[in-house]
Amino acid sequence: MNLALESIVLPGVDPSRPIVIAGPCSAETEEQVLEAAKALASRGVKIFRAGIWKPRTKPGGFEGVGTVGLSWLKRVKEETGMYVATEVATKDHIKEALEMGIDILWIGARTTVNPFAVQEIADALQGVDIPVLIKNPVNPDLELWIGAIERIYGAGIRRIGVIHRGFSSYDKKMYRNLPLWHIPIELRRRMPNLPIFCDPSHIGGRRELIAPLSQQAMDLSFDGLMIESHCCPDNAWSDASQQITPEVLDYVLNLLVIRDVHQTTENLSELRRQIDQIDEQLLELLAKRMRISREIGIYKKEHNMPILQSPRYNEILTKRSDMGEAMELDTDFVKEILQEIHEESVRQQVIIMNQ
Ligand code: PEP
Ligand code: MN
Repeated sequence: MNLALESIVLPGVDPSRPIVIAGPCSAETEEQVLEAAKALASRGVKIFRAGIWKPRTKPGGFEGVGTVGLSWLKRVKEETGMYVATEVATKDHIKEALEMGIDILWIGARTTVNPFAVQEIADALQGVDIPVLIKNPVNPDLELWIGAIERIYGAGIRRIGVIHRGFSSYDKKMYRNLPLWHIPIELRRRMPNLPIFCDPSHIGGRRELIAPLSQQAMDLSFDGLMIESHCCPDNAWSDASQQITPEVLDYVLNLLVIRDVHQTTENLSELRRQIDQIDEQLLELLAKRMRISREIGIYKKEHNMPILQSPRYNEILTKRSDMGEAMELDTDFVKEILQEIHEESVRQQVIIMNQ
């Protein structure tokens, strides 16, 4: 679906990748906001972010300075010439942000999950012309993300972008929020002209992951980056571990390798043909495997056997994982594929049992 979007790039902002939005997680004091803004502006950042209303997991934490922070952002505009962006979650936030001349609004991940909240925001934006960036919902649900985009689009907003900030999971290992890159990649396939930003601060949850995640986003042709930056990150009132100083931000941005998205792909065509052939073979093999699974299903039904036989499943997982490792395939990757295939086989056999 190609939405009839207009460019989110504001006058004076360099449209080349990455478009950078930086600033603290939260506006804490007027001094902190201005200090960060001036340090970022002097390093060429053109769009400043700061949360005024903070959606915190539990009550009692710092929930943002509220309305007074808008006047600090107004000062940032006046004194640095930067554009300013903040998170909005209710119609009152929108009214106040618009009155104070906020340039860009973003919808947070905890708001995108809720169609009522997104619709309230959409209704409040009817007839307004302002860029709106929509973070992914906290759960990995692309349709919900697209639903939010459609609601905002339906309000007449034409300058829309999205922010990939990762997906919440109990299975926290390396990241605060799992990147699940295939989701923004699929979004790009479905809505090719929709600008995508990456928020490596919220994905990584750790300073040292900001550089590699930003590079990965650039390698995947993302359009921009939203990075949390604070002059004294360790003392930040929220998200201290995922903010970097303006100096470090400058360093990280300068190290990024930006590949040319307009390169011709002629030289790749032979390799791509081989990939196409392999994919075809993989699909044929999968189809064959499913046919055999169905035959097994018929046998189990005729002999009154249960579908799930866990010793067999465990054997498959272990043996195949070892085999994969010997072929230098990533163990988690092999496990994940096998689990998916097994799930589909079970589904096929359930259909047979119920026939
Ligand atoms: C934020 O940008 O500070 C924020 C609250 O982000 P998210 O909605 O991605 O959690
Ligand atoms: Mn934050």
